[in-house]
Amino acid sequence: TKFIYMAGNTTLTMIKPGAVRRNLIGPILGMITEHGFKVEALKLTKLSARQAAKFYKVHRGKPFYDGLVTYMSSGPIVAAILRKDNAVTEFRELIGNTDPEKADEGTIRKLFAESLSHNAVHGSDSDDNAMKEAAFFFSETERFCPEEWHCDEEV
Ligand code: ADP
Ligand code: MG
Repeated sequence: TKFIYMAGNTTLTMIKPGAVRRNLIGPILGMITEHGFKVEALKLTKLSARQAAKFYKVHRGKPFYDGLVTYMSSGPIVAAILRKDNAVTEFRELIGNTDPEKADEGTIRKLFAESLSHNAVHGSDSDDNAMKEAAFFFSETERFCPEEWHCDEEV
């Protein structure tokens, strides 16, 4: 069975190493599911420096890039594919500004980030990147999409 993943209802998140280290997997996943996101795929894993560099390659050359790669490969992360209508936009609203000092009250980064560089979670920034990032972490057989979610079509 092959599935079509419709653009617009999928995003990819990572719970970053600092948040995993501080035992925040449960609280963060709890907030995500309380806000109506369905978990289509989920894993605890660890990125090598090479894999982190690949994931964040759009930032290559920026002053924070090397630190970002080192940090994101410094310990286990949780990766998840999330589904909700308008997932990319709604998830970025839920996580808040990249800089936790600028993030709205009640957002995940406001509540759980340590700093701008250690900001608890990742969220895809476009439908196109959500598709690429989902495929970076998960194979077809690691994605769970029950019929009642009406989220895919067989071809
Ligand atoms: P976002 O994660 O909100 O999409 P970006 O894609 O701009 O933010 O940056 C990727 C990640 O790089 C951020 O989540 C943050 O961890 C880190 N980062 C971004 N800008 C800075 C900065 N000025 N200094 C340190 N780290 C940064
Ligand atoms: Mg980004």
